[in-house]
Amino acid sequence: MATTGKIGVTTENIFPVIKKFLYSDHEIFLRELVANAVDATQKMKALAASGEFGGELGELAVRIELDEDAKTLKIVDNGIGMTEEEVDKYINQIAFSSAGEFLEKYKDQLSSIIGHFGLGFYSAFMVANKVTIETLSWKDGAKGVKWSCDGSPEYEMEACDKSDRGTVITLFIDDEEKEFAQKSRIQGLLNKYCKFMPVPVLFGKEQEWKDGKYVDTDKDNVINKTEPLWAKKPADLKDEDYQAFYRELYPMQDEPLFHIHLNVDYPFNLTGILYFPKIKNNVEVSRNKIQLYCNQMFVTDSVDNIVPDFLTLLHGVIDSPDIPLNVSRSYLQSDSNVKKISGYITKKVADRLEDIFKNEREALESKWDNLKLFIEYGMLSDEKFCDRAMKFALLKNTESKYYSIEDYRKAIEPAQTDKDNKVVFLYATDVEGQYSYIESAKAKGYDVLLLDCQLDSHFVNLLETKIENARFARVDSDSVDNLIPKEDKSRPELSEAEQTDISVIFQAVLPKENQYYVQADNLGEGSAPILITQSEFMRRYREMSAMGGGMNFYGEMPASYNITVNMQNPLVEKILAAKTAQVKPAEIIPDAAEDASEEVKRTVTEAKENAAASHKSELESFASANDILRQVADLALLANGMLKGKELSDFIARSAKVVEDAYLK
Ligand code: ADP
Repeated sequence: MATTGKIGVTTENIFPVIKKFLYSDHEIFLRELVANAVDATQKMKALAASGEFGGELGELAVRIELDEDAKTLKIVDNGIGMTEEEVDKYINQIAFSSAGEFLEKYKDQLSSIIGHFGLGFYSAFMVANKVTIETLSWKDGAKGVKWSCDGSPEYEMEACDKSDRGTVITLFIDDEEKEFAQKSRIQGLLNKYCKFMPVPVLFGKEQEWKDGKYVDTDKDNVINKTEPLWAKKPADLKDEDYQAFYRELYPMQDEPLFHIHLNVDYPFNLTGILYFPKIKNNVEVSRNKIQLYCNQMFVTDSVDNIVPDFLTLLHGVIDSPDIPLNVSRSYLQSDSNVKKISGYITKKVADRLEDIFKNEREALESKWDNLKLFIEYGMLSDEKFCDRAMKFALLKNTESKYYSIEDYRKAIEPAQTDKDNKVVFLYATDVEGQYSYIESAKAKGYDVLLLDCQLDSHFVNLLETKIENARFARVDSDSVDNLIPKEDKSRPELSEAEQTDISVIFQAVLPKENQYYVQADNLGEGSAPILITQSEFMRRYREMSAMGGGMNFYGEMPASYNITVNMQNPLVEKILAAKTAQVKPAEIIPDAAEDASEEVKRTVTEAKENAAASHKSELESFASANDILRQVADLALLANGMLKGKELSDFIARSAKVVEDAYLK
């Protein structure tokens, strides 16, 4: 005799509510139902293994059956099944009431909850307007039970003549959800959620190409691999196995660089395999790549709150039953288990890298350029990881030799310690562009690092705080002597007027859009007449604000350069001699007497301003007519890749003439 009853839910009719709030995640119903079927099957296996069940197990599998026309979807298992009491207890009371409790608890924040709820059996009503359960328990003498419910809080239960053990859940797909009555959609969902479930999941038949179309064979189409690699023992696996598994997960990706097999059972349960992907030299933000599983059931591929930010760049799989799935994202962040898991993963990654550093140094060096971005990102964003990585991070110099940070410091210390006892790490960001600076540093016996990755300007700041008594300077940030000042050396002695004259004539022949600080210095007879450099400080802050570091003040300033005029260079001497010969000194106008009238004082001030202005314009005409000066300035610009357009073509014409004069006359 059929019984009817009312489900113990307080809300009048909670199905529409469920539908609305789980809107974006309707598809998870299939995962939940297959997971239940898999559980029931696993329990059956356990009963047989313990000897409690002595009968015929049969081939244990979960079968998905879709009738596209009738719009019904069946999840069929030969697991433990349920007796009438069990249906009453687990479905009528527990399943429904826990859904009720859930709604009660989250009533106020329903709309802010996103993510996965794991409402279990109940989620079937997100896509179906009617659900039936036909089930036969494994227990001796059990009778078949049929339960049905049309989405109202009323259900119906009656006896049925199901003769084989297990459960059939039938979903009558709602018209509004008819996508879930399409074969391709179901196939896609099974591939997404069930690919590694521990019991075979079958959907239709394998197909073959015959007489111009695909036809079913009589072989079952198996969705999953029941023993994924991460569930196996690392000792039984070879490198090839890991590579093959990676290709299976990410068919379109380049080979990974290294892998880490995670395996822990205390204080939480977690297995998984993580891969360092090959990241190209640009910041390739490839998030959402680690897949999170719970007992081989796919949960999500957005693991943002579970692994630390920088590790989201990794690829692979994490499987843990201890990550709470039924909660909102913001809750996840504060969950202590999740924090432990995140800390554990970071530690494992650092352990593995240190191990590679110690035992596979050559492999590490050969893959470093691809790994570097990831490690630098980690060091910049995670203090603990940074402290570990100081041991295994490598530095590469402009000759493509790799060093650990400590070894490098030791290597450069003798030659590159400045007068204040700081070790100066010289670096270049562009081997071609900074060629001449690199060469002059090398000629002095210095070594130059290559730091040409996007994060490097931040990384340099970080290293300065981590390496004691050290300073970083880009090779072109000053003359080679001043990069690593050794002792206070003699400066040229110039009057203020001479200093100003030099500043005016050199500025006159340099591009107008930038700012220049002209300085006279003794760089030696054999060194270039002038040197264009950009201060380390200004350049770093401009770069960082360009990357979005927020320091906009520096970002908006015009580029400024230091111009060092080498007073010991013979060409400079010649230019200055010509200036002295051609431009008479500024007229000296005596100050007005203290007690002079306001009018006299004003006249004197004006006269001074006029004298200065006319002196400046004489200097500028001298400068632009002086071929040596222009040639010398253009050569320095050229060395910095700053000579362009008309200036460049004028330079070429002038140089051609110099060559003619030298060889033809
Ligand atoms: P949960 O799986 O989280 O316990 P569900 O609502 O999915 O919650 O299921 C409630 C209970 O119903 C399960 O714990 C299980 O005892 C029973 N159940 C559900 N589906 C099946 C099935 N296919 N075979 C046997 N028992 C099932």
